[in-house]
Amino acid sequence: MAHLNQRRPENISGDFYVDNSCIDCDTCRWMAPEVFASVGEQSAVYHQPANEEERLRSLQALLSCPTASIGTIENPKDIKEAQETFPILVDENVYHCGYHSEDVPGHTKGHTVLLYKNKYLFSGDHLAWSPEINQLIAFRSVCWYSWTAQLKSMKKLANYTFEWVLPGHGRRYRADTETVRQQMQNCIAWMERN
Ligand code: SF4
Repeated sequence: MAHLNQRRPENISGDFYVDNSCIDCDTCRWMAPEVFASVGEQSAVYHQPANEEERLRSLQALLSCPTASIGTIENPKDIKEAQETFPILVDENVYHCGYHSEDVPGHTKGHTVLLYKNKYLFSGDHLAWSPEINQLIAFRSVCWYSWTAQLKSMKKLANYTFEWVLPGHGRRYRADTETVRQQMQNCIAWMERN
């Protein structure tokens, strides 16, 4: 969820804004180019949506932002309708589902994870729950590429918002976003000791 007290000053005044957790991934800018632009290595709202079409695209961008950095001052009553527009038809039978893949080198050089709706993280072999030590972990003994790179990727991933960790190996985990955030910090501290 975006935080109004972290609203970037570069946003034009009005309902939609980007906060300072933006990681400059470009998603909002290609989804709603009439509203979001790059300003100083992060996105900002340079033009508030002026009609229904622009508002819908802005809400779709809000829902797709991998770090939940886009917010509205007013509670968006039409968010559910925007949610129901996914998957969005791209062409023929190709759809944009709101999935975002992130590179997380470490386990292998080209390892990626998939984040869906800022809720479900398909973490592959990067991250899983350990019932033995009761926390989120990475697999040191099957880290085929670089533990240092994996730690760096974990720190990057800790900026994202999600509730579910759905790994390829290891146990699943689910908690509220704040608990997951704390768990990611525990995982990073554990990786630094191992
Ligand atoms: S989608 Fe989110 S993280 Fe990506 S550029 Fe836009 S505001 Fe930043």
